[in-house]
Amino acid sequence: MDEQWMDSRLVATHLGDEYDKFLGAVVPPIFMNSLHVFPDTEAYLHFNGADPDQYTYGRVANPTVRIVEEKIAALEHGQMALCFASGMAAATTAILSVCKSGSHVICVQSCYGPIRHFLDEYCVPSLGMSVTYVEGKEVSEFAAAILPQTDLIILESPSSLVFSLQDLAAVAALAKEHGIRTYADNSYCTPLYQRPLELGIDLVMHTTSKYLGGHSDVIGGVLVGADRTFIQEKIAPMREFLGGIPGPMEAWLVMRGIRSLEVRLPAHQQNALAVAHFLEKNPHVKKVYYPGLPSHPQYALAQRQQKGSCGLLSFELNASPDETRRVVDALKIFKIGVSWGGFESLVCMPCYKDTDQMAQWLGGTRGIVRIHCGLEGAENLIADLKQALSVLDE
Ligand SMILES: *Cc1c(COP(=O)(O)O)cnc(C)c1O
Repeated sequence: MDEQWMDSRLVATHLGDEYDKFLGAVVPPIFMNSLHVFPDTEAYLHFNGADPDQYTYGRVANPTVRIVEEKIAALEHGQMALCFASGMAAATTAILSVCKSGSHVICVQSCYGPIRHFLDEYCVPSLGMSVTYVEGKEVSEFAAAILPQTDLIILESPSSLVFSLQDLAAVAALAKEHGIRTYADNSYCTPLYQRPLELGIDLVMHTTSKYLGGHSDVIGGVLVGADRTFIQEKIAPMREFLGGIPGPMEAWLVMRGIRSLEVRLPAHQQNALAVAHFLEKNPHVKKVYYPGLPSHPQYALAQRQQKGSCGLLSFELNASPDETRRVVDALKIFKIGVSWGGFESLVCMPCYKDTDQMAQWLGGTRGIVRIHCGLEGAENLIADLKQALSVLDE
């Protein structure tokens, strides 16, 4: 890779700027077109889709989408990236590209819920696939789950409920020995705080709806590969079949978000760490889950594997799930909502509607509260939590 593109700050700000091509426009334009026309039959008949400067139809490739793909590939130190209309479009395309009828998948049980549902409700009954879920804290759990027909290991480190980690380098090494592909959801850390491809993972997935977009104004996803041929030959055709490419406007919004990731992410981390420390000291709080806290059970691995943590954390109170709801309802700055990664602070109770047993399997409890610390200022977020927790004093 070009030397300057090893520096993520230069990639985020300037990779893809082509002033000569775009009339000196400081920001590359949005290519709001569904196809590209050819000057003559010679060019039309000799179209080469593998050439990054040739375009034919918008479901296959678009110049605005391609700039974002080049930026994210460079940020992840990967060879090639493909953008998708959502994180789920990226994830399902990856699974369908790697697996076939009869494939066995090993998946961490704390992974993003809809991915579990896709495996359980579609891949298993309709494709005759099988899945083994593992907690994933020990590499030996993966080793014990491997079958002759295992084709894929699905990781998410940290996961987004209780932030459990997997040792990415060790799992990747084990998988390579057995010819199994590895997939890691890196949405929590972003490429600034963790680069799974450098640890031997084959495929990194991001929902760009979270930190990469960063402004809660876009839905999108991306897959990045360590190997260009794998992306070109396996993932690109499946994206074309399923039609999951994002629109140019969405891609452009992701590009705009990425430009400021370098300043946003440390601010989210700083706010979350201050909030986590406050919560740990509050007598109503039973437990705080945040990989940046020394009390996190896998703190040593987090320190070794990640450069930082982001604005998302969770906690449990010394109160029933219903009393916990009163605290959540008393919050003013933290709005009740299911996403994260934007400028705004959010709160949700992801396991409230689960059975106690299911909540426990996921690593939490029915009363677990997840918050995203936005950019409203740590002291404002702490004051909001403090007044909300005080309803338990009444
Ligand atoms: C939101 C999310 C996804 C899914 O992304 P969408 O863009 O909503 O489809 C996948 N993984 C994680 C960790 C997420 O938080």
